[in-house]
Amino acid sequence: MGIRVYNTLTRRKEDFRPIEPGRVGIYVCGPTVWDYMHIGNARPIVFFDVVRRYLKYRGLDVKYVQNFTDVDDKIINRARGLGVDPMAMAEGYIKAYFEDAGALGVAPADVHPRASRHIEEIIAFIEDLIAKGYAYEVGGDVYFSAARDKAYGQLSGQSLEDLKAGARVEVDERKRAPEDFVLWKKQKPGEPAWPSPWGPGRPGWHIECSAMVRKHLGPTADIHGGGSDLVFPHHENEAAQSRAATGAPLANYWVHNAFLNIEGEKMSKSLGNFIVPREIMRSYRPEALRFFLLSAHYRSPLNFTEEQLKAADAALERLDNALANLKQWLVVSQREAMDDEERKLLGRLTAHRERFITAMDDDFNTADAISALFELTRDVHATLGPQASKELVKAVIDLYHELGDVLGLLRRDEQASLDDAVERLIAQRQEARRRRDWAESDRLRDELAAKGIILEDTPQGVRRKRK
Ligand code: AMP
Ligand code: ZN
Repeated sequence: MGIRVYNTLTRRKEDFRPIEPGRVGIYVCGPTVWDYMHIGNARPIVFFDVVRRYLKYRGLDVKYVQNFTDVDDKIINRARGLGVDPMAMAEGYIKAYFEDAGALGVAPADVHPRASRHIEEIIAFIEDLIAKGYAYEVGGDVYFSAARDKAYGQLSGQSLEDLKAGARVEVDERKRAPEDFVLWKKQKPGEPAWPSPWGPGRPGWHIECSAMVRKHLGPTADIHGGGSDLVFPHHENEAAQSRAATGAPLANYWVHNAFLNIEGEKMSKSLGNFIVPREIMRSYRPEALRFFLLSAHYRSPLNFTEEQLKAADAALERLDNALANLKQWLVVSQREAMDDEERKLLGRLTAHRERFITAMDDDFNTADAISALFELTRDVHATLGPQASKELVKAVIDLYHELGDVLGLLRRDEQASLDDAVERLIAQRQEARRRRDWAESDRLRDELAAKGIILEDTPQGVRRKRK
């Protein structure tokens, strides 16, 4: 049996078959950068990081794309309230995103496209929709005719009639039908805007992802993901736009994580229970938060309490201790090679690997995968000690790291986390160079130099050297 994935579209688990054998394109809707990420946002970020790691572990070549929505009402309103430039504010929160994600052990995506840098692709996409009769302009705004798309409502399991009824609440008389949604918004005074065939304006929320998937992954992504709140309207609308423009499905597997609640309540600023990882990480190690986020299956709701976080920290410590013991036995052991008895034991220990893979194959069941690590640990305590051969102990240590790496837990050593930090800085510098922010690019180069990494820009790309 291979990997099976629950598909929101079909509402069942399906065998995972990438479009191109051996290669996987994943697109995850990333944060709207109007504030620091909160621990709810951290759930999809960490979960899809694990999906990416696991698919790589299973030998697939993964291209992982996660966007930043940096043009949006929330950003504009917040910046206005603070009296700052919205694009500069978004930039600041993107930087904060990389710090938080990095601390949580999340590697940068292969591409982090931003709405503000895909205006050309977005406009072309909308023009395409108008030309095909799926979209219409009204006084500088452009809307999508939902009813023109025969499959509209399929992803979220609603009929057009339900949607018409639901949409009546927010009446906009310029729309031809209540269920239509906006693709391009005419500029209002003081708002950031770009020139377009319909006059100055900015993209609506949904269109950016359709345009970015097409640009970075082609017409169809293998996996498209995000939190369950995105199923409707965001993903329903993305799916409709893409079907209309390309004639192909936007994604083959729609993957959605359930919500994280705080002490049983929805997280919101007004309830005063809005928690950000950077606050937690002041008192707890980031790995404990990561462990907590992975301790439940992604489609199960997760309830955050400080007790749960403490329990996650303690559980992680049990694994850390087991690994520390093994490393000590490796030093004190007097025997190099395994004997026959140990060889049998090794076979039994590696059965834990199979259990781990079976769990992850089954719709990325991180909860059961973590249980497999604990079973391995119980077995180690019961059967191994300082008398074991170095060869066996080494094999078990490697197994811990092999499986730990898939979950992004049990970092090998300080060097590993330093390497992650370096990778992050290099990715940020590439990003700065792309947008021709030479000052920021130089600053990052200096920061890397301080960590002993020298970068050389060659025509073939960036080369790195250790000092
Ligand atoms: P946003 O910046 O609100 O678009 O959210 C970014 C990502 O976080 C989306 O995939 C959301 O579905 C997800 N998300 C937001 N709040 C939560 C939550 N409380 N639990 C789990 N995922 C969430
Ligand atoms: Zn999206």
